[in-house]
Amino acid sequence: MRPEERAAILIEGLPYIKEYAGKTVVVKYGGNAMIDEKLKQAVIEDVLLLHLVGIHVILVHGGGPDISRMLKETGRPTHFVKGLRYTDENVMEIVQMTLCGKINKDLAAMLDGKGIGLSGLDGNLFMAVPHTDQEGTDYGQVGDIVHVNPEVVFRLIEDGYIPVISSVARGAEDDRSYNINADLAASKIAAALKAKKMILLTDVKGLMRDPADESTLIESLKVSQVPALINEGVISGGMIPKVECCVEAVRQGVQSVSIQDGRIPHSILMELLSDAGIGTMFS
Ligand code: ADP
Ligand code: MG
Repeated sequence: MRPEERAAILIEGLPYIKEYAGKTVVVKYGGNAMIDEKLKQAVIEDVLLLHLVGIHVILVHGGGPDISRMLKETGRPTHFVKGLRYTDENVMEIVQMTLCGKINKDLAAMLDGKGIGLSGLDGNLFMAVPHTDQEGTDYGQVGDIVHVNPEVVFRLIEDGYIPVISSVARGAEDDRSYNINADLAASKIAAALKAKKMILLTDVKGLMRDPADESTLIESLKVSQVPALINEGVISGGMIPKVECCVEAVRQGVQSVSIQDGRIPHSILMELLSDAGIGTMFS
């Protein structure tokens, strides 16, 4: 590409950069897009670029596939209850080791000396109680975040770092660690920081009327439409907590909330630096 062309392309992004400079953007990253090294590199490049133009990016991550692999390798049986990994003490040990140790530090280290990895355990960032539901189901140490102490994240941003946060929490009523759905962790931190934008990267195009048919992508929807879609069974599995987190983030004042395809390289930049949303936008 000629220098003129490169300059022209950069200048086209200027209005969007202006809109977001000095503002907070929370990106949740996990699932299969995390196993693919090329995609991982693209996510890291997007985050770094946004950081370098003055956007306050926070990267929240999960790591289900790595946790599954580590549980298998250490011979610890695991099972799922209503789509969530039942987390006993033995499983939690691996969850914490994998998320807070391996994945968190690997991602932070990729961010050019600007990444600081922390978990919800640091500075009591996330405080949780055991997750349950209307039927009183036991999920072990799967937690629901009941309190957020965002000071540590504020400080890091003020000092020019990129916080990389793993979705583990400290017990609000006991001293155990809790396994937190990373979408939930992202929405809680986005709400606490009054983020301008939250992007949940996933392994599908977005929310679809028929998950098997990409042409049924719902490009935008109002949070009031969500309960009906869940009742009709349109939204199921891991998409339920994901969409519920989007609803919560919108209600808590996060201006722009989207679910988008983490399998597309540079989808974060595509979303931020253009008018054309690429996934499902909530309002
Ligand atoms: P992540 O690792 O990104 O949190 P999840 O597996 O938890 O991914 O959630 C995304 C999954 O939700 C998709 O891979 C898809 O199988 C499922 N899903 C259920 N209903 C829908 C829907 N209506 N549209 C898109 N995906 C859906
Ligand atoms: Mg999920």
